[in-house]
Amino acid sequence: MTMNKEAIELWFVTGSQHLYGEETLKKVNADSAIIAGALDKASAIPARVVFKPVLTSADAITAICLEANNSPECAGIIAWMHTFSPAKMWISGLRQLSKPLLHFHTQFNRDIPWTEIDMETEIDMDFMNLNQSAHGDREFGYICSRLRLERKVVVGHWQDKAAVDAIGVWARAAMAALDAMSLKIARFGDNMRDVAVTEGNKVSAQIKLGYQVHGYGVGDLAHAVTKVPEKQVKALVKQYGDEYKASAKALSSPSVREAARIESGMRSFLEKGGFKAFTTTFEDLHGLVQLPGLAVQRLMADGYGFGAEGDWKTAALVRAMKVMAHGLKGGTSFMEDYTYHLDPENTSVLGAHMLEVCPTIAAAKPVLEVHPLGIGGKADPARLTFRTRPGRAIAASMVEMGDRFRLIVNTMEVVECPLMPKLPVASVLWKPDPDLKTAATAWIHAGGAHHTGFSQALTAEHMEDFASITGIELILIGEKCDLRELKKELRWNDLYYHLNKGL
Ligand code: MN
Repeated sequence: MTMNKEAIELWFVTGSQHLYGEETLKKVNADSAIIAGALDKASAIPARVVFKPVLTSADAITAICLEANNSPECAGIIAWMHTFSPAKMWISGLRQLSKPLLHFHTQFNRDIPWTEIDMETEIDMDFMNLNQSAHGDREFGYICSRLRLERKVVVGHWQDKAAVDAIGVWARAAMAALDAMSLKIARFGDNMRDVAVTEGNKVSAQIKLGYQVHGYGVGDLAHAVTKVPEKQVKALVKQYGDEYKASAKALSSPSVREAARIESGMRSFLEKGGFKAFTTTFEDLHGLVQLPGLAVQRLMADGYGFGAEGDWKTAALVRAMKVMAHGLKGGTSFMEDYTYHLDPENTSVLGAHMLEVCPTIAAAKPVLEVHPLGIGGKADPARLTFRTRPGRAIAASMVEMGDRFRLIVNTMEVVECPLMPKLPVASVLWKPDPDLKTAATAWIHAGGAHHTGFSQALTAEHMEDFASITGIELILIGEKCDLRELKKELRWNDLYYHLNKGL
């Protein structure tokens, strides 16, 4: 997946006013440049942090907000009130700002100089003037709340790792939101017949999240597959042999050659159309010899979003999660709640899919195998099989509630999975938080799907920031899930989104 840190910017803007005089404003400017520079260098923040000169008037504030809106590189604004910046000056700019906003409630000096601080001398007056965010940021916070602005508030000294990490999480969400604005999803075939949860309003999705969903007959894909030159098929099969554990028999099988042909055709189709996510469905495979398994796995590993059975909402979600997770340790995949282990001493969920699980979550080198598939009525498909490394993870589901989109997130612990010699698919075994019974009850009340985006790189905070930036509902099922409170939250949210005119 290509993503260039240099190509995406977060603008660091500082609020002040003319009252302080030129000397103080010079210092404010210099301090802000130091903080912006430190954030720019921070490895936790995956974009450039660009210092913008201190804002002292309503006109300058409005101008920078409009400039941010028009900048294709700008993924969001980080605002800080080093000194007191009367917030009526911010109304016009903030009302027009269409980029994500993070309010960084920090202070240039970490510590109070206990023995020196006073208000007698000019020097100490400077100290007070230059460490005013405790009240300056409150004035700014008020106007954001008064305007009902969705934003992230991060509190802490600018050299505090936790504060910088929190900005990094938001930056990733802002980058995914920016990516979604230009995202195109290709659907090969429609949704699986009669299935409800994978449906939704594509117009609403485009209004809310920006992405476009384009439908194609699977014949268009089949045509691209037939055009793949034999030489390319051979080269790709050789690459499979280099990258995966594969027997000579598997590598020379017609199934693997066909899988390579499908991958190559699918990849060229997606590249030509500028698509970064796609769906397939086993109910519509005319002209394809086998259900695309290996192709889907490898494209996901390269950063494509994917949803099976026509599930474009999950394809878009997996793409957003791939963007957020870029460069982090741990993989991200399309996933399905497959089956339960209900031993009361050891309840857990087995996650898998027919074929399409992303090898970025593999604990070791995946194995390339060919086995029959009882669904779809096609030839035996090739797939990569593997197990997943234990550790923390999340699963997230995007559903459409008729008037709005709801993102449901469950945190979990991936655990060691016993061998399953007769189940030749990639799989994950996990224990959801706070426990399977509570988590599944909450998930079902919230209307969460069986399809999810699964990630060992992301945390609930990434998803929370993404939901906040895109203005969608978030239901978190975490360590402290209380079912009575959750049911109330669902009811109250219905009212909240009704009042706030959902889509
Ligand atoms: Mn499925």
